[in-house]
Amino acid sequence: MSLESKFKLSMPADVLRAKYEEERTKRIRPDGASQYQELKGRFADLDEDPYITEKIVRDPIVTEHEVVILGGGFGGLCQGAHLVKQGIEDFVIVERAGDFGGTWYWNRYPGCMCDVESYCYLPLLDDTGYVPSAKYAKAPEIFAYCQMLGRHFGLYDRALFQTQVTGAEWDEAAKRWIVTTDRGDRLAARYLIMAGGILHKAKLPGVPGIETYKGHAFHTSRWDYDYTGGSPDSFMDKLGDKKVGIVGTGATAIQAVPHLAEAAGHLYVFQRTPSAVGPRNNRDTDPEWAASLKPGWAFEREENFTANISGRMPEPDLIDDGWTHIHRRNGAERAECPEDLALARELADFERMEEVRAGIEEIVKDKATAEALKPWFGHMCKRPCFHDEYLPTFNRPNVTLVDTKGMGVDRISENGVVVEGKEYELDLLIFSTGFEVTTDYTRRMGFDPVGPGGLSFSQHIENGLETIHGLVGRKFPNLFTISTLQGGAMPNYVTCAHEDAINIAHILRWAIAKGATTVQPTQQAADAWAATIEGSLGPFIEYNARCTPSYFNNELGATDENGQPKTWMPRNSVYGGPCDEFLAFLREWRASNGEERDLEITTD
Ligand code: NDP
Repeated sequence: MSLESKFKLSMPADVLRAKYEEERTKRIRPDGASQYQELKGRFADLDEDPYITEKIVRDPIVTEHEVVILGGGFGGLCQGAHLVKQGIEDFVIVERAGDFGGTWYWNRYPGCMCDVESYCYLPLLDDTGYVPSAKYAKAPEIFAYCQMLGRHFGLYDRALFQTQVTGAEWDEAAKRWIVTTDRGDRLAARYLIMAGGILHKAKLPGVPGIETYKGHAFHTSRWDYDYTGGSPDSFMDKLGDKKVGIVGTGATAIQAVPHLAEAAGHLYVFQRTPSAVGPRNNRDTDPEWAASLKPGWAFEREENFTANISGRMPEPDLIDDGWTHIHRRNGAERAECPEDLALARELADFERMEEVRAGIEEIVKDKATAEALKPWFGHMCKRPCFHDEYLPTFNRPNVTLVDTKGMGVDRISENGVVVEGKEYELDLLIFSTGFEVTTDYTRRMGFDPVGPGGLSFSQHIENGLETIHGLVGRKFPNLFTISTLQGGAMPNYVTCAHEDAINIAHILRWAIAKGATTVQPTQQAADAWAATIEGSLGPFIEYNARCTPSYFNNELGATDENGQPKTWMPRNSVYGGPCDEFLAFLREWRASNGEERDLEITTD
């Protein structure tokens, strides 16, 4: 019996391979990630905060702190919480938005919800005692939870909202970071922690004519409820007579489209690449189950999720959802010898995607629409989606899928969107076109810190990062980052950001106790970590190189022989090994007092 015959495929693996390659090739563009446009210049108004009810008026502040945290999303909130737990009280959190929440402040589009189980996704549940109301909680609840964290750990008193960091420069004499803001503030900090997030800088498609569009338009992360009516929780009552278009069919659009379809006169969904959408099976939290939970339950569950997505097959699978099923059915159980493993993994991936495609055929009645909605790529090439209402939406008479066959929309006109020469007139155009992920870190943060000797952080990255666990770099003392640069990444990114925050707080408590003026990793530790990162990338690079373009592989633009962007430097990458290994590095380091071994301090 051949290995292939143990997998349920509707066509031979070779044919599937060829089909994936054909679809992938169609989508590769020479401009790669640079195809997108920033919400700047003539698009700057699309980046305005539509949620601020009252603009804060205040004088510039000149203060000195032990720590300045940039960002009040989950990274900054976890950081603030763990500084408080470590007894470090003198810090401020600078946040551009009008409140805490980060992603959950900005993303208020209809249908927005957690796509990872919320019992694992929301950090610090064991501390707050909170139990989410559903397996996948909706965005307003998660935003409210962020506010709860702010109150629980006393972070509101330390927040500077509606304030954007515009610069940070190392003052060698004072051994402090001088942080400046768009409010004219000057904050001197012994330690600067950059927790600016990974999906916060919205992008627009690089489509000719986009600036000529005369109708109403916005990005999904700046939802204009004044125009649509309704709220994240209620029906959008002003769209009944409107022709609405949405560009993009990623994880965001999947959630928004069913709600738009219910509200709009007509909805056009402009698709370049379909997402893989599997069943969701959301359910409300059972009050009896919630009452039965023992202290530590949330950590145990999060660990179970991480073990699952790391391919560990924990028993039982506490999460038992689409994410864990993908990772548990990886073909290994059908391989007879280690040599079979790689092929078995590929065949299992094919098999799962065959099920996704079969599900579409079953749900979507119009054959051509069903065909167009079928994804032809590896399951983890793009964020897998789970939703029970997205696919049925295409059976509605007021919804049209406009499939661009992998090419993207031709252009945008004064009146609407043009695809294959046909103009679709619209009253409202919504960009569900995602966020910058792989552009330069300092571009995404909006400023370029200047370190000792005038070295800029972007130069430091270009030279090849030298950090311990991606948290603090050599040549950049006292500047900590919660990011994917030499850091961790996983479907539940909050788990990584949280672990980073714990280690940073641990390091700072130690440094402060020692009376340190500067902290940085030893050369040896930084070299060892860079080697660990480089050594982890093999399977990760191999899988992504065969994928259809996305932010996972920097849109495959201008690639080298490994399918990686030419400017991409392996040592600056994320840790490519199993997710739980990254967490283990940090935990073992902490438990063995790695700081004594791997960090250098000065006390002058
Ligand atoms: P994505 O980057 O995933 O999707 C952007 C979409 O825009 C893609 O479908 C893309 O097509 C399309 N697009 C871009 N340019 C064009 C064009 N010229 N013509 C037509 N279509 C175009 O952004 P999302 O906001 O959907 O998701 C971003 C990330 O946010 C997710 O990967 C996920 O990590 C996170 N997220 C998390 C959620 C959660 O609950 N935790 C929920 C929602 C999002 P193509 O695929 O061809 O590039």
